[in-house]
Amino acid sequence: MIDIANDSINRIKAEVINCKLCSLCTKRRNAVPGEGNSKAGIMFIGEAPGRNEDEKGRPFVGLAGKILDETLDKVGIVRSRIFVTNIVKCRPPGNRVPTEDERRVCKNYLEREISIVSPKIICILGRTAFESLLGGGSILGNRGKFIAKDGRLFFLTIHPAAIIYNNKLRYALEKDMQALVMECRRLNIPI
Ligand code: SF4
Repeated sequence: MIDIANDSINRIKAEVINCKLCSLCTKRRNAVPGEGNSKAGIMFIGEAPGRNEDEKGRPFVGLAGKILDETLDKVGIVRSRIFVTNIVKCRPPGNRVPTEDERRVCKNYLEREISIVSPKIICILGRTAFESLLGGGSILGNRGKFIAKDGRLFFLTIHPAAIIYNNKLRYALEKDMQALVMECRRLNIPI
């Protein structure tokens, strides 16, 4: 049982690094805990680590991470001020979508990250995170929307990895991020 009052991002990180709760631990090089500002106003949640993240043990450091960084930079969000994490913390082989079972087992870490950071806005990146957190479906049909649920405000946009395969989505991601920035300014959320 976790002592919520004494839980911390560092404690979660230490647990994730050593976690063997699901079979993804057998194929990983490194588990990838969330990282960033533990008092961030915005938390970004993606699907799962990819090859580069698995190698480095850090989230969003590969090509998708580069696209995310470029987009954040363009709209004026400073990466060191936000918190970035994933639905599951270990790379699924071949970058397949994590199974429902893997997501369910790993969810405890994400819930604790959300609880500690307590962001004003949770930015959902892509379909898998949308499905896992809000039970949603098509991200393209819902991107750019804010959804209030369980006392939290969520924002939906595409996963930066989608742009690797379809560069036309880059504009959509930037447009969504601009809308996110406007809302942050309205709510006085530091970015
Ligand atoms: S994916 Fe999550 S639950 Fe599975 S081994 Fe990694 S940290 Fe543990």
